[in-house]
Amino acid sequence: MISGKAKIAGVIGWPVAHSLSPKMHQFWLNYYGVDGAYIPLPVKPEDLAHVIKALPMMGFRGANVTVPHKETVVPLLDIVDAEATKVGAVNTIIVTPDGKLKGTNTDTYGFTKNVRPHLKAKNKAVILGAGGAARAVCQALLKEGFARIVIVNRTPERAAALLKQFGEKVSAEPWETRARALEATDLLVNATSIGLVGNQAFDLDLSALPTQAVVNDIVYAASFTSLLEKARARGNTIVSGMGMLQHQAVPGFEAWYGIKPQVTDELTRHMLSD
Ligand code: NDP
Repeated sequence: MISGKAKIAGVIGWPVAHSLSPKMHQFWLNYYGVDGAYIPLPVKPEDLAHVIKALPMMGFRGANVTVPHKETVVPLLDIVDAEATKVGAVNTIIVTPDGKLKGTNTDTYGFTKNVRPHLKAKNKAVILGAGGAARAVCQALLKEGFARIVIVNRTPERAAALLKQFGEKVSAEPWETRARALEATDLLVNATSIGLVGNQAFDLDLSALPTQAVVNDIVYAASFTSLLEKARARGNTIVSGMGMLQHQAVPGFEAWYGIKPQVTDELTRHMLSD
């Protein structure tokens, strides 16, 4: 039940029907007994500017932003914090008490919270992919103190853009030689969208990857993607992307509804249920 004073937020995307964020936030709203709502907001790219401007006018506390708006939303905001500026993308908007739109990026926080407890060494990380999510992962790993980060992406120009942005600790290897790039790796992260639809098989030979390496797939469509299954079978520690999704939601929920929510097994079971 919500009242006329309910605190409102939502997720802006196109399409947005696939998003697990409403299910997650609604779980927390119920769990903590908050007078609030979190709704899916399907917004076409050509309508984004109107919708963003209208958020404070309609009394929204803020919103999450997902594909394909994370980058195009940046110039529409009044304030963009340092983390979002570095990543070049906003996934969380907070409406300030004076009605300003403040953008931040909590994907880096979510990634780190999810992976940090499993890390054993921080010498070399390999990131597969060079899109928006890979940029957030790269920023998070630099902050986490990794000595060396190797980007492996199908389109070399996109990998080159990351190198330029993040500096000398970051290098690139061609997609064609991705199996070899796994030598002496402490952490392997899949930040491509392979596995997103129908958990398609990942064409990646893991034989050069040390068995002590941690393997994280940020794709959360399946609880264990084919890459994670393959890594687990050879003894690697595996970390699914569900935790990143859950942890990245914490700062937004706290800002909008005034309670810092906990990421629990009960939440995970709820999100994986039909
Ligand atoms: P982008 O569209 O920006 O990037 C997609 C990346 O995947 C590119 O590097 C692209 O390579 C690569 N790619 C796609 N298909 C293939 C393929 N068949 N073979 C090789 N490479 C491929 O997406 P995002 O960076 O925003 O998101 C990537 C994934 O991360 C998504 O699945 C998303 O759901 C997930 N994600 C998970 C989060 C979480 O909380 N767990 C948070 C954010 C994202 P190329 O450059 O060559 O096209």
